Amino acid sequence: MNKIVLLGAPGAGKGTISELLIKNQKLVHISVGDILRQNIKDNTDLGKLANKYMLAGNLLPDDIIIKLVEHRLSCKDCKNNFLLDGYPRTIKQAEALDKFNKPTYVFNLKVDINVVIERLTGRRICNKCNSIFHVKNLKNEICPSCDCKLNKRDDDKYEVVKNRIDVYFKETAPLIDYYKNNKQLIEINALGNPNDVYSQIEKFLK
Ligand code: ADP
Repeated sequence: MNKIVLLGAPGAGKGTISELLIKNQKLVHISVGDILRQNIKDNTDLGKLANKYMLAGNLLPDDIIIKLVEHRLSCKDCKNNFLLDGYPRTIKQAEALDKFNKPTYVFNLKVDINVVIERLTGRRICNKCNSIFHVKNLKNEICPSCDCKLNKRDDDKYEVVKNRIDVYFKETAPLIDYYKNNKQLIEINALGNPNDVYSQIEKFLK
């Protein structure tokens, strides 16, 4: 049973490490950020609401996000194997998850906060295949796999990034102690390249 939670500041590499995990392990990937961005694209009611919060770098209300994740987690495919990327982000969400389907591994991706700012403001995404890149590794702003133009996420602008980091320290960082107290926390040094980070995680999985 691999029921995984990935914790980490914005830009710690949750999305990139998730890509490697789902490529190599049998896991159902649940990224709240991706679900919300898809809703924004589809212009749903949830998307309209999410856009307001995300553009400011704030978290959406707990009750909405808890319902959204529980709905997905209640599907048969994620009973024993899931990868939660970007959930929980508050103590209330963590308590709800413990009641609903307790994770077996909680990995905290540890990075220096200055690295995070550099990573986020230089991040580019492909809207077609959802791959994530950094400008410093690209010759131009075209997706190497899909050949289409890469985009900057609206919430990767400097002011929004600053607020996302403040929100992280206020709302999400307390989860480190929460999971430490539950004896579930596994600290991962996330400063290296994605493959190094992935192999630190892989060692723990069944
Ligand atoms: P990052 O981890 O880099 O901030 P995500 O794609 O995980 O990127 O999240 C983007 C935005 O989506 C957040 O800033 C927030 O507005 C919203 N969001 C994602 N996960 C949650 C959550 N668990 N609770 C509330 N809001 C969330």
